[in-house]
Amino acid sequence: MKKHSISVAYGDGIGPEIMQATLFVLQEAGAALDIEEVHIGEKVYHAGYASGIEPSAFDSLRRTKVFLKAPITTPQGGGFRSLNVTVRTSFGLYANVRPCIAYHPFIPTKHPHMDVVIVRENEEDLYTGIEYRQTPDVYHATKLISRPGCEKIIRYAFEYARRYGRKKVSCLTKDNILKLSDGLFHRTFEAIAKEYPDLVHEHWIVDIGMAKIADTPQHFDVVVLPNLYGDILSDITAQISGSVGLVGTSNIGEKGAMFEAIHGSAPKIAGQNIANPSGLILASVLMLVHISQPQVAQTIHHAWLRTLEAGIHTKDIFHEKTSKELVGTQEFAQAVVRRLGQLPHHLPQVNYQCAADAWPHHGISVQSTHRQLVGVDVYFHSYESVDTLMGQLQDLPLPLKFVTNRGTKVWPNGHPETFCVDHWRCRFEAGIEITFSTILKLLGQLDARKLDVIKTEHLYRFDNIAGYSHEENL
Ligand code: NAD
Repeated sequence: MKKHSISVAYGDGIGPEIMQATLFVLQEAGAALDIEEVHIGEKVYHAGYASGIEPSAFDSLRRTKVFLKAPITTPQGGGFRSLNVTVRTSFGLYANVRPCIAYHPFIPTKHPHMDVVIVRENEEDLYTGIEYRQTPDVYHATKLISRPGCEKIIRYAFEYARRYGRKKVSCLTKDNILKLSDGLFHRTFEAIAKEYPDLVHEHWIVDIGMAKIADTPQHFDVVVLPNLYGDILSDITAQISGSVGLVGTSNIGEKGAMFEAIHGSAPKIAGQNIANPSGLILASVLMLVHISQPQVAQTIHHAWLRTLEAGIHTKDIFHEKTSKELVGTQEFAQAVVRRLGQLPHHLPQVNYQCAADAWPHHGISVQSTHRQLVGVDVYFHSYESVDTLMGQLQDLPLPLKFVTNRGTKVWPNGHPETFCVDHWRCRFEAGIEITFSTILKLLGQLDARKLDVIKTEHLYRFDNIAGYSHEENL
């Protein structure tokens, strides 16, 4: 078999030990790989690379297009941006696929029949990481949802379902609140579902949808959802299937793919040889399917299932009643290697033979829209009351429609009980098409009145439909 070049990062925390275990299994199973080690993570950051990624790592990823990555530590509340997000977005890895399966009765779970695949959008949503402190008291995070982004991930979910013989695709959004952004995701889902009449499709509001999945995961099959919801849900489904340590994930794009465990770098258990390497081993199985070595993938997966059945378990999945032998990270990998060539006796076998072909290519639909500028939302910083503010907002080049504070209308007809912070939004809307120079004139007059403008947002109509939310109805 011709060797396939892959890039490998050993990561942070438990990363090096689970990667060592995984590479040992791959080597002993006869995977034909040419490994290029790349350096990303904490050490690279501390060595002076602000992005946490050595420049040569990008060259390697561009060359091999396949990345097997151990978990990376991401600083919380400061420090460098998540390297996972950087790699996923830089290489256009839009589909994050996370199969969460129960291994009953060998791994205890309240959901013995669960077999659900989370297809998480991977490039957009709040993961843009675009945040601002706009006033002393208010911070703003940017949630971006694009039509091409929705089309790519939703189509991927339906194609995945078809290819792997799944029956149903469920979509979760919060489009009762986020009518435009999550609304786009839901609408795109309904439109694309029409092209797959052989598959059942359904939509849930994300809060009750997640509650249902946590309660009765066996009623779900493939679930597609925006980035943040997908991140949260996949940890829940992994954990209730048995352990976060059991799930591997693929990050798929048109120009490359990355394979990793779903879990993080677990710094508290690093260096103790107790971490479960299963997530990364299963990620490497997904990688082998992707690089057209499905036979080796199947052999490893079956040996891994047989190891679970034999009761050889790491600490996170060890239970007195179901386990027979408590092993460390490397010993678990050795147990898998000893079972290469064996089939599971009880757990279902996998069949990767048909899965390695190229997927049908679907372009992004083209839409032409007529866009008209009709107004502007102007944001102010002020500690004044709405009545004082109103005194400064009369006789301006555009009519003032309403004022809100944290999205709640405070003028006209506001409620005296509404709690206000130092962050105000005023909507100026013409009702007819205007030019940018009208907005500049408005801003010039607001500045002359010493109003502290901190941000503006243009209001557009697309094919005569408002491209902004309508709080005046509140
Ligand atoms: P975590 O997944 O590292 O750990 C959560 C819990 O699960 C801990 O109790 C941990 O001990 C346990 N656990 C995780 N993996 C395990 C394994 N293989 N075997 C046994 N137990 C395991 O989540 P966290 O503590 O929130 O994050 C730690 C760091 O990892 C953070 O810096 C975070 O940003 C990062 N992280 C990285 C990735 C990634 O690289 N893809 C994903 C998630 C979190």
